[in-house]
Amino acid sequence: LMHLTRKLIEIRTMLLSIDQNDALKLPSIVVIGSQSSGKSSVLEAIVGHEFLPKGNNMVTRRPIELTLIHTPAKDGKVPSEYGEFPGLGIGKLSNFADIQRTLTDLNLAVPSSEAVSNDPIDLRIYSPNVPDLTLIDLPGYVQIASLDQPETLKEKIAALCDKYIREPNIILAVCAADVDLANSPALRASRKVDPLGLRTIGVITKMDLVPPEQGASILAGNRYPLHLGYVGVVAKSHGKKPTNDTTEIARRGESDYFGSHRDVFGAQSSLMVGTDTLRRRLMEVLESSMASSLHGITNAVQLELEEATYQFKVQYNDRRISPESYVAETMDMLKLRFKDFTQQFKRPIIRAKLKGMLEDKVMDVLEQLYWLDKRAPELGDLGSDPKVKPEDIEPYWRHKLEAAASLLTKSGVGRDSTLLVADGLRSLIDSIATAEPFNFHPRAAERLTEFSHMILRDRIGVTSDQVENCIKPYKYDVEVEPREWEAGRERAVQLFEDEVAMCEMKLNEIKKKVGGGRRLNGLMSYVKTLEEQQKEKNSKVSQNDGEQRGDSEEPLPLESYRYPPAQLMDARYAIMYTDRLSVLKLRLMALKSKRCRAGPQSEVFCPEAFLNVVADKLAYTSAMFINIELLDQFFYQFPREIDSRLLYDLDRKEIVEFARENPVVRRHLDLQERKDKLEEVMKQLNSLSTLRADPQPAPRRN
Ligand code: GDP
Repeated sequence: LMHLTRKLIEIRTMLLSIDQNDALKLPSIVVIGSQSSGKSSVLEAIVGHEFLPKGNNMVTRRPIELTLIHTPAKDGKVPSEYGEFPGLGIGKLSNFADIQRTLTDLNLAVPSSEAVSNDPIDLRIYSPNVPDLTLIDLPGYVQIASLDQPETLKEKIAALCDKYIREPNIILAVCAADVDLANSPALRASRKVDPLGLRTIGVITKMDLVPPEQGASILAGNRYPLHLGYVGVVAKSHGKKPTNDTTEIARRGESDYFGSHRDVFGAQSSLMVGTDTLRRRLMEVLESSMASSLHGITNAVQLELEEATYQFKVQYNDRRISPESYVAETMDMLKLRFKDFTQQFKRPIIRAKLKGMLEDKVMDVLEQLYWLDKRAPELGDLGSDPKVKPEDIEPYWRHKLEAAASLLTKSGVGRDSTLLVADGLRSLIDSIATAEPFNFHPRAAERLTEFSHMILRDRIGVTSDQVENCIKPYKYDVEVEPREWEAGRERAVQLFEDEVAMCEMKLNEIKKKVGGGRRLNGLMSYVKTLEEQQKEKNSKVSQNDGEQRGDSEEPLPLESYRYPPAQLMDARYAIMYTDRLSVLKLRLMALKSKRCRAGPQSEVFCPEAFLNVVADKLAYTSAMFINIELLDQFFYQFPREIDSRLLYDLDRKEIVEFARENPVVRRHLDLQERKDKLEEVMKQLNSLSTLRADPQPAPRRN
């Protein structure tokens, strides 16, 4: 039968780790009593060591789940005693003073605002001198609320005790012999949940403080009968000698006391006295209680197991996962997704992107150097106006073209094109890092972005220098083949047509916004006159003196209030788009003219075609070197960094944490673990059925 308790204690611990469901609880002995009733002394007498927090005002603030594990001597060797706090992971403590200190610290860690905590401390003690028992030490009932022990403390402790004294637990009600049992909060609480006293044992402490006859009459239990009886103890040391093992002295004091009153306690054979008797009694009671719980608990575990097995089948189709497999799958998927994404960085795609950027630059250069030039119409008039001779105007426009080409080639193409591609890579990584499953793994996502940024930072400088170096020849001379010229010219036509379409669309939008074309025309001519007036005024002012110059922020003339300011702004934009449209249309005509079609010899008069050819060459060269210096390197390093930075420095604990960050995986693991544990418990329970062959009822006494 000894074996049974031990096994069931193990099973009880496993069940506690599965969940706190009442149906899955095996009984434990719950120790309750008022403060100073001698509760700690009794527990320490059972364990044989002083290990509970002591001192003024030192109230137990958390339940202690105390599991005693008997370690028998093996081959004549007596195993050493030690304690363990499984929840803390601080290893074996063979010095009981260390256990006491740890418990004190854990108690003090409960904020005084909370008074008591429901979170139990798990303590296991392994010793050849203890029986297999599970005891739960609860905070002592407070009888008189004092200044530093507020009323709420009293209530909280009572509530906590109520929670633990529920079935199937056995109640150990500690009462001091020198206090009337009628006033014992422990007995009162027990009577509420166990009116017949079927699962309550009374422990009467401080037997030495009352006359032996009085003590004996309490133990007889006639006033408050308990089915499991009362045990009388003397748990306090008589001598005040400072010593390491006060409990040993206590034990001697106890046997001295009961020995010297053998006449009273020995005579009535039904009286139970002494700590040893108490231990035996507790073992018997726990054993029989566990034995009788066995059937119920087996059924309950069976039910839970069936449910868990069913759910596992239905929800996960019996697919088992492990944190390791999840991590491995996640990393494989990351690499795969990355590989898919690299398709977006094929050379033609990069070249097209760079070309787009350079075409924008071409437009900027044209706007800056050509469209605002007062002589710009010359370029367009060439074909129609016979008075304009190409030779006359060529030097001016040749100079312009050189300036434009240099503006384009020296605009920092190396840096801009490298950054454009690097930005593309960065947003690719960002999109991976913010998408499932990395949205569940913020720390991994952070590392991912961190190391990819690091690779990029490393490569950006080298790449942009290399690109800049390779486009250097174009800064001096660009040779254009007729085929290239035609392609450039066609592309320029296309770009201008797009630009025209864009301007027209904007104009239409404005037209709609202000309420029609006529209204817009009115607005535009109004703004133009306003601007004329303003110009005149400014020039007058500057002629008069320097006095008021710079003070052009004059209030608008009164008439301006005819239109709301927002519409005047729209009109300004409309004027800008109209002006641009007329330039664009002129240039389109020129680009389509015979002169431009003729070939590269017309470059001076068709700068758009020429600059487009240059842009194309720049894009081609940049793409080539960005590919070598940035993309190839990045694509090579990235998967390797995943292995070395995301994977290899994870220990088991971190792998589990990582996997559990994903709620889907967490639920899967939880259910799987629950099922596994229930299976294990079921196996253990089944192996007990042989032990249960001859159940013994617990006798009232031995
Ligand atoms: P707790 O507050 O219920 O844990 O009570 P303690 O175990 O700390 O005991 C309260 C006080 O009663 C302490 O001073 C103990 O030394 C004393 N005490 C405990 N048991 C006995 C006993 O059997 N006889 C005597 N005389 N004193 C005891």
